[in-house]
Amino acid sequence: MADKPTMKPWIEKIHAYVPGKSKGADGRELIKLSANENPLGCSEAALAALAEPAGPARYPDPDATTLRTKIGEVHGINSARIVCGTGSDELLNLAAQAFAGPGDEVLYARFSFVVYEIAARRCGATPVEAPDVDYATDVDALLGAVTESTRVVFLANPNNPTGTYLPRGEIERLHAGLPQEVLLVIDQAYGEYLEEAEDDGGMALAAAHENVLVTRTFSKIYGLAGERIGWATGAPHLVDALNRIRGPFNVTTSGQRAAIAALGDQAFVAESRAANNRERARFAEAIAALGNHGLRVVPSKANFLLILFEGRLTAEQALRALAGGGYAVRHLPGQGLPHGLRITIGNREQMTEISNILRKAAEDG
Ligand code: PMP
Repeated sequence: MADKPTMKPWIEKIHAYVPGKSKGADGRELIKLSANENPLGCSEAALAALAEPAGPARYPDPDATTLRTKIGEVHGINSARIVCGTGSDELLNLAAQAFAGPGDEVLYARFSFVVYEIAARRCGATPVEAPDVDYATDVDALLGAVTESTRVVFLANPNNPTGTYLPRGEIERLHAGLPQEVLLVIDQAYGEYLEEAEDDGGMALAAAHENVLVTRTFSKIYGLAGERIGWATGAPHLVDALNRIRGPFNVTTSGQRAAIAALGDQAFVAESRAANNRERARFAEAIAALGNHGLRVVPSKANFLLILFEGRLTAEQALRALAGGGYAVRHLPGQGLPHGLRITIGNREQMTEISNILRKAAEDG
């Protein structure tokens, strides 16, 4: 007999999620461009909703009824096809748990969101990675990795940590190539950063098919990461499965109120998208100009850029130079990207400063 409870072997294989940091190695507080948060914060309307007392002695609405109705109005979805979660993280985990288990496989691209591996392992399923092509998700590789045991496919679009994006035709090709009993989860955490013409068609697939779930979050463009609110939409049997296993009161009263108010301020969303996409283009151009020093930008449609360091200046050196200049960005050696830094798009002044720090480090190196 063991002298203490024994962790399940599949749980033992999980490495705890390491969040983006806001402190330097010396403990100094830095400007945090490491967690893909909105530099504009959130809508004034959401702030006002958060300032109202939420009645902390009472449980929240367990079904987030008003919030789901409002999401449905904004996106043209029947609220019965929507389920809310404690961030979209919870919903990704629930999707794996409801549709995969020991002996099953959960498939995703090599460079994609780390929670997919955790979600697969949590439920005892086997995580399977399909190779990327130059850091972009490859539909042929995903389809080629499907086996009789595949139960869930996770696809982030735009993708984290690469920022790359698959257009509608590719998403439809992936869906068409999957057996109908495989659940395709299209994670649109950064979906609001796409321009209208770039719609990847995920919502339309979720509306039309029994095996597509789309997840979204209030953590990114809506600037409500601290409130932990996400949502998923798909066929009623998918929503029903997630409802059975979610926490009964999984979205707080203040979170529901803030999200409802935030949905009512689409001007803030449009402004955030415009500012992000403008600064992202400027920053990408500044880094592309350092190509002769081996810096390379992975094309991004999200609110961050992955920069690869393929010359004398290493990602570690660049990370230290940025910390010295007051900025925390994301280095992901544990995810097979020791030569890359993922940098959230901040405001213009911050991105100019970061470009200057990187140019100086590359030229001095
Ligand atoms: N999906 C992707 C691709 C992400 O990058 C993130 C946030 N890092 C999430 C989902 C989860 O975000 P949240 O739980 O805050 O909704």
